[in-house]
Amino acid sequence: MKYEKDYYQKIGFKCGLEIHQRLLTSEKLFCSCSANKEGEKLPIKIERTQRAVVGELGEIDKATGFESMKGRRFIYNTYNDTSCLVEIDEEPPHEVNREALEISYLIAAIFNASLPDEIEVMRKEVVDGSDPSAFQRTMLIGYNGFLELNGRKINIPSIFLEEESSGIESSDSEVVIYNVNRLGIPLIEIDTDPEIKSPDEAKEVAMRIGTLLRLTGKVQRGIGTIRQDINVSIKEGARIEIKGFQELETIDEIIDNEIERQQKLIEISKKLKERKAEVGEVIDATDIFSKTDAKIIKSIIEKKGVVLATKLSGFKGLVGMEINPDRRLGSEISDYAKIGGVGGIIHSDEDLKGYGISEEEINNLCNRLGIKENDAFIIIAGEKEKAEKAISLARYRAEYAIKGVPPETRGIDPKKNITKFLRPLPGGARMYPETDEKPIIVDHKHYEEIKKNVPSIEAIESKLMNEIGNKQIVEELIRSPKLQDYFYIAEKIKSDYQLIATTLLQKMKELKRLGIEVEKISNDTLVCIFERYKDRIITKQAFEPIISAIPKSCVDVDKIIEEQNLIRISGDELIELVRSEIEKGTKQKSLIVSNIMSRYRLNIDGEELNNIVDVLLKVGK
Ligand SMILES: [Zn+2]
Repeated sequence: MKYEKDYYQKIGFKCGLEIHQRLLTSEKLFCSCSANKEGEKLPIKIERTQRAVVGELGEIDKATGFESMKGRRFIYNTYNDTSCLVEIDEEPPHEVNREALEISYLIAAIFNASLPDEIEVMRKEVVDGSDPSAFQRTMLIGYNGFLELNGRKINIPSIFLEEESSGIESSDSEVVIYNVNRLGIPLIEIDTDPEIKSPDEAKEVAMRIGTLLRLTGKVQRGIGTIRQDINVSIKEGARIEIKGFQELETIDEIIDNEIERQQKLIEISKKLKERKAEVGEVIDATDIFSKTDAKIIKSIIEKKGVVLATKLSGFKGLVGMEINPDRRLGSEISDYAKIGGVGGIIHSDEDLKGYGISEEEINNLCNRLGIKENDAFIIIAGEKEKAEKAISLARYRAEYAIKGVPPETRGIDPKKNITKFLRPLPGGARMYPETDEKPIIVDHKHYEEIKKNVPSIEAIESKLMNEIGNKQIVEELIRSPKLQDYFYIAEKIKSDYQLIATTLLQKMKELKRLGIEVEKISNDTLVCIFERYKDRIITKQAFEPIISAIPKSCVDVDKIIEEQNLIRISGDELIELVRSEIEKGTKQKSLIVSNIMSRYRLNIDGEELNNIVDVLLKVGK
């Protein structure tokens, strides 16, 4: 966090979270397809296009119209085991998954929420194609909840149970390819009020919600299974929904950068208002560039494309003003233009000669646009239809620069930790009832029972302290997504708790850094490794070669142990080794140990070796 807490209050910082977490159920929410398998890809592909049914198709302040302006085709890959006719909207949804409902009630109880008398399944419009039906089913299962953090109460006004969307396999300006593997997996959405007071607090609340969800032991683990959307605004700014945080570590930095972006845009807007700025009409400047040496423009004109331009009166110097590291107002205008299907814009705050545009061409263009001292202009070249669309989008964004900050849904640029434009913020999700589902009558007595058995962080903490015995490891484990894995493995092994925890928290991370695909290693495989350790078949040192070999070879643990000679040497066999070393004339303990370890580092437990050497040296005397 860049500033002191008071600063955020002063700038009117407002922030609320939406946490999405996939539940661990065997089936999907509205059909019997598997909710936790990678299905086998089928040759069947479904193709859909979307058309906004509203009259104002050109109105780009509507997310729907905006998406349909992109005119992209959506292709859905289908899978064995994980998709059926329900996913592709060719069959009505089945009854709501009871297992998912039960987990949701438990989560509602953890967040102290009330349950409605009846749960109503609704359809929520989805505009990005991530659902073949163009809607997502969702239901309010809890309201008026809260969580406590550092003595502060953070309100959770609503908890939803809904369908996960499809995953994107690839996308370009024409086609988006989705896979329906994850479509329809039960997903819980937890919303906080916009009362979070600083970027640090946003990070803490997100972490706490994640921890509380994992306490259930009933949520999916791994990359993408939990997602944070963060709504951020400042005074005179606008509500920005930042989607798709995955690394909680960078939340504060990204929010700080977003605040800075909004502040710069507000500053630009004030200057533009002072200068009585205006966005001019579109002119066709193709003829001015008919003999140009500017490569980009030349190749477009050769392909019968057009060059369009617009005057931005009063914008001089502001289009090129930096609003985030290496990002300018011009970059934002360009983001909108790109939606129209062009490569971007050229603007007058840039080095135009760098593009190969001549002095004469610039003069001619300035004359035709009537450019005066404080004015700027933008140029868009492209296929006629695309360039027209692009320049109208660019003009819309430039006009908004005079007003201030446009409300948007933004994603994340993980390299720079800044936000990036996705689409305008939809004007409130459009919802309508799912007529294929009957309302679910809530059994409040049952909910009271669930509430009595809610797991608390304190209780889990003391249980873990008993097992692991190290406060630092326990605290790290509680905050870590590995908590569930720990529960699963510890429950089966019932010993070596600290080793299990450190293997999950440290060893796996180390190996991941070395490029080992540790995500591919299942908890059952880990259980198997810990069992072999418990049975004294292998040493701790053998963990690393075994874990490293699994994702590559996919063979079982015992085969790896055998092939890589990882079987533990202990007891009589170890005594023999030490004896022969002493017989060779080595009398110094450290030398005996290092001689033996240099040959059998992975097979011998250091402590056992030390003890044996001690005993034999003593006997030898
Ligand atoms: Zn299905």
